[in-house]
Amino acid sequence: MLRSEFGDTAYKTWLASLSLQGVEGDRVLLSVPTRFLRDWVASHYADRIRMLWRRVNPVVDGVALTVAPAATRPGGAGLPVEPAPVATLEPLAPSAAPEVEPEAEVSAPVDPRYTFDNFVVGKPNELAFAAAKRIAELDSLPFNPLFIYGGVGLGKTHLMHAIAWEIRRRTPERKVVYLSAEKFMYQFIRALREKDTMSFKELFRSVDVLMVDDVQFIGGKESTQEEFFHTFNALVDRGRQIVISSDRSPVELSGLEERIRSRLGWGLVVDIHPTTYELRLGILQTKAEVLGAQSKVPDRVLEFLARRITSNVRELEGALNRIVAQATLVGRAITLDMAQEVLQDLLRAHERRITIEEIQKRVAEHFGVKLADMHSARRARVVARPRQVAMYLAKQLTPRSLPEIGRRFGGRDHTTVMHAIRKIEELRTADSVLNEDVEMLRRLLQG
Ligand code: ADP
Ligand code: MG
Repeated sequence: MLRSEFGDTAYKTWLASLSLQGVEGDRVLLSVPTRFLRDWVASHYADRIRMLWRRVNPVVDGVALTVAPAATRPGGAGLPVEPAPVATLEPLAPSAAPEVEPEAEVSAPVDPRYTFDNFVVGKPNELAFAAAKRIAELDSLPFNPLFIYGGVGLGKTHLMHAIAWEIRRRTPERKVVYLSAEKFMYQFIRALREKDTMSFKELFRSVDVLMVDDVQFIGGKESTQEEFFHTFNALVDRGRQIVISSDRSPVELSGLEERIRSRLGWGLVVDIHPTTYELRLGILQTKAEVLGAQSKVPDRVLEFLARRITSNVRELEGALNRIVAQATLVGRAITLDMAQEVLQDLLRAHERRITIEEIQKRVAEHFGVKLADMHSARRARVVARPRQVAMYLAKQLTPRSLPEIGRRFGGRDHTTVMHAIRKIEELRTADSVLNEDVEMLRRLLQG
């Protein structure tokens, strides 16, 4: 199961030595032979392993990794055989020691690696960083809620944990609850099932700081939204702090009721922009130091990574970890050649970057309109529809934001882009010819 999920190599290198120790309460206990493996698995595979378990056994709420020398482990039984379902997924601290805190029940463990000190600040994230720090350092509310949004792997969860850490450190008496929107939903569903929504409400309404990660998750989930909204309002009325993260801005949150959307944008909304080369290099240098490997990784290798892996910090980190792990495990010096070899698959995936220009060109060709019509103000359907298709594909196939896509289509507003995307989404279900056009173009572009 793990093998098919992660592939042969990853399985052999990292996962084959995991062994199932049992299930304790709602946690699955796995052991690994070394600390290094534990940390590696915790930071790279824990989320997905938890997801697998959860698919099969909805009772399981988390995965705990412990270090146990091979001799004491029950006969290498390997992994989540055919797991039991898990009810929630929070990134685990590498040590996975359940934190003993009064709110441990609802709040996910805060990852000790995710602190302000470990967060590398650059142009793309300085505003979000500054806002997060303010919230953590002031007892009064400078802005409520703080809404942080940005693409995958750009540091939202890191900042959320850092805020939680800092508040707990400075004012341990304040009750800080950090959890994902998904976990919020599961807690709520459980309360409904157990006919105990009163204590659910009391619990959430008694917190001083509520942090909800990945709020986009509640899009389309009506009763969860409703409950979230009530909780949100109750806390704001009482002057409690709320911090929200999302992969898109409040206006772009789909499947969310208008009143909730607008309420989310009431306080301070900050976005984390895609990383720049300088920031990526800075992050790599910091991570190399944390790994104690700064002297082993030549600058050229770091520069190479910063130039080639641009999508998100998680991948960047993963690439560095892989190189360092390889060097450590097989005692090999880190060179540019070695890095290229170890990261072959990853680098290949990054080569095919689809650009907006490419999309515009293909779409124009396909519908027999002029490339210039992608930018023009003409609103006749014969050109407007292809333009909308191109915008839709630009959102799907590139990491560009709505405002940026708008700019590249003759300086249009982001709301126009959003409208185009909705329109095409709608048409794809209603118009099978158009749906096929879009599918074909997508395949063509993805080559
Ligand atoms: P998100 O929640 O936005 O998807 P995460 O906060 O999980 O992203 O970040 C992914 C990984 O990248 C984490 O390991 C995090 O520590 C790291 N990371 C992201 N941005 C930075 C940064 N500016 N400095 C240091 N580490 C970062
Ligand atoms: Mg996150």
